[in-house]
Amino acid sequence: MSKKHGKRHRAATPAADDATPWQDGPRAASGIVTVVPGQAFDLGAVDSDADGGFEKEAAGAALKVERERISVLQERLYAERKRSLLVVFQAIDTGGKDGTIRNVFKGVNPQGCRVWSFKVPSSDELDQDFLWRYHAKVPGRGLIGVFNRSHYEDVLAVRVKELVPETVWRERYGLINDFERLLTLSGVTVLKFFLHISKDKQKERLESRLAEPDKAWKFDPADLTERKSWDAYQAAFADALARCSTPYAPWHVVPANRKWYRNLVVSRTVADTLEAMDPQFPEPKDGIAGLKVV
Ligand code: AMP
Ligand code: MG
Repeated sequence: MSKKHGKRHRAATPAADDATPWQDGPRAASGIVTVVPGQAFDLGAVDSDADGGFEKEAAGAALKVERERISVLQERLYAERKRSLLVVFQAIDTGGKDGTIRNVFKGVNPQGCRVWSFKVPSSDELDQDFLWRYHAKVPGRGLIGVFNRSHYEDVLAVRVKELVPETVWRERYGLINDFERLLTLSGVTVLKFFLHISKDKQKERLESRLAEPDKAWKFDPADLTERKSWDAYQAAFADALARCSTPYAPWHVVPANRKWYRNLVVSRTVADTLEAMDPQFPEPKDGIAGLKVV
């Protein structure tokens, strides 16, 4: 507690708009599902169309409020420089990881934020243990780090494409839990989002990438091969969510068919998480009271 200021200061973030359908609490009505640690998880039971009772326009207005909350709290986290936030995104192809990152972190000071996209590992990366390349990108004190794909690919793509034997990937759930526990104990809050879309929505999005010239660059013919493994990916996602949702780093499943709702759910959860971390500005240096700038 600050001696000079008498009490700790809660960040003066803008209040969430009481007129939104979330007035009974953000998650109750939001459709976001936090996976219960230690229980089997049925991904099929989560409605990817959920909209929390929002209209698109109201969701857009509410998103701006959440962005402002994130921005105010990020400044404190950066100034405090004691802890960090790691936000992990996983989804099937076209699930909306890039769009979510663009929309949720728009108001954030770039100096305090690092975004990392993980692709097929290089041969140098494959020469190391599977967590090596991710560990190197964990945000340092004061920073927000965003993982666009993550260490979970090593129990998702790697499992579905059979890149290593089952005996190898099966061990990884426990290793991932240990890794995230190490991070948590080291001052990193780990926030994990799975963006959940339906198979029909993926078809629609792939078709629009093919049809619209300014989206064509995103179309990867390999996505069509991957789509054939839809069921295998859903099974791999469900397993990863169930086995790696822990009390210290739970998985949040976000209904993601509606982009505007997905953005709102993620931004609010990020803002709530930062608020719960309650970062504090450091004490001013001793002896500055009464100093004059000449
Ligand atoms: P994109 O994010 O669409 O650019 O695609 C990146 C590709 O890299 C996806 O097909 C991922 O499945 C793949 N990828 C990412 N990490 C890994 C990994 N650890 N092992 C194998 N494939 C990976
Ligand atoms: Mg892709």
